[in-house]
Amino acid sequence: YWHLQSFKTKICCIGAGYVGGPTCAVIASKCADIKVTIVDINQARIDAWNSQDIPIYEPGLEEIVFAQRGKNLFFSTDVDAAILEADLIFVSVNTPTKKTGMGAGFAADLAYIEAATRRIALVAKSHKIVIEKSTVPCRTAESMRKILDANSRSDVTFDILSNPEFLAEGTAIKDLQNPDRVLIGSMQTPAGLKAQKALASVYARWVPQNRIVTTRLWSSELTKLASNALLAQRISSINALSAICEATGADVDEVSYACGLDSRIGPKFLKASVGFGGSCFQKDILNLVYLSQSLHLPEVADYWNQVVLMNEYQKRRFAESVVKTLFNTITNKNICILGFAFKKDTGDTRESAAIAMVKYFLKENANIRIYDPKVPESQMRYDLTVEDNVDVDIYNKRVKVCDTAYSAADGVDAIVVLTEWDEFKTLDYKRIYEKMTKPAFIFDGRLILPTAELKKIGYQTITIGKGDVE
Ligand code: NAD
Repeated sequence: YWHLQSFKTKICCIGAGYVGGPTCAVIASKCADIKVTIVDINQARIDAWNSQDIPIYEPGLEEIVFAQRGKNLFFSTDVDAAILEADLIFVSVNTPTKKTGMGAGFAADLAYIEAATRRIALVAKSHKIVIEKSTVPCRTAESMRKILDANSRSDVTFDILSNPEFLAEGTAIKDLQNPDRVLIGSMQTPAGLKAQKALASVYARWVPQNRIVTTRLWSSELTKLASNALLAQRISSINALSAICEATGADVDEVSYACGLDSRIGPKFLKASVGFGGSCFQKDILNLVYLSQSLHLPEVADYWNQVVLMNEYQKRRFAESVVKTLFNTITNKNICILGFAFKKDTGDTRESAAIAMVKYFLKENANIRIYDPKVPESQMRYDLTVEDNVDVDIYNKRVKVCDTAYSAADGVDAIVVLTEWDEFKTLDYKRIYEKMTKPAFIFDGRLILPTAELKKIGYQTITIGKGDVE
């Protein structure tokens, strides 16, 4: 206990999710003299963080949590206590998309941000630096400022910073330990700049000075939306080209490689696929679209909206190609889904293409057998029956979640690869082929399979962005 009292700086993080958890665990691991308390209103999630079975899978995360927990890293549901003692408070709550009552728009649901901000205002008895870690629309700090000022004691002051998180799930720890940049936005007032400096000095323990970028508040808020929009736009661009490839006999991997050699374009994020998923890309673009609409910039809104529409189109195109290839009917056929997470090395399924695919195939009365190395059955059941409204009876009757790729693929009509897990590249496809219905179809939604070998075995291979014209 004496030891706990001796921390010079105390950080509180509100929200123990995919961002708050890893981000603050890394801060704790890099700053032994800072006490980091991650709080959440979700008791089950906090219990899991305090157990041997932490709630999020990220390579390297477990090691860090086990090393720091109880030393300078704490997980708690006592939000007020953590706010009370903190010098810096990260707000890392969820900011989901909501459908707006006005028009056809989608906007960020800031209810959780507001609730957390109100809590800070009510509880704080000393100066706090409040840091937006969540991805928020441009000028959210202005609303937070009003809530803080209207609800706090008159002798308490706040500084608000924007410090968006650029980690990618699956490589979160690596990204946090060695970030391309840390962005800190603040008001350009003496107090704002002082707060900015205080947060920068935490990151400076392990991030080189030239990667800590300081900007005004609104630039920082907008940069997060802009970064995700630009990344998603590259994916939609290469996916749009993949449709042309299929129709012409061009090969999207060759096109992407050759384009990427241009140093102005670069090779990354130019891989065609069944479409992007994850909790952020679509949400953040819709956010940008809504922002553009509310600023009366309809052409700008349409421009970014097209990135999302292209992604929807890509998923639909791929799902339809499965049905079409299987002689226009998949009724009672057995389809093996390899991968349910939205990308490899994560158990996260939010907005995963697999959800849309399985839902589509179930509508066409197929039987589905799913294998994913990290996603538990309970999650798939939730995604399909609770979130996406597949009838529970249909789920029970038609969906089987398997422990291995081999049992999922056992005797099926078609295999559909939807997540780029490494293990799918090297399965014993000959062994799988033997038991499949012939012709045996394999659909590569991620361009990871050894197509030439599969063809030799006897498979009919269907790959995004590769027509059958030689
Ligand atoms: P998450 O849903 O995994 O975690 C958010 C947590 O906040 C939940 O556990 C929830 O219970 C908790 N919470 C909500 N309101 C609360 C309150 N008032 N008090 C205490 N706890 C509260 O979400 P996430 O994936 O960690 O994302 C958080 C934010 O970070 C979002 O704005 C997201 O856009 C952004 N972001 C996410 C990623 C990513 O890869 N997931 C990357 C960068 C940025």
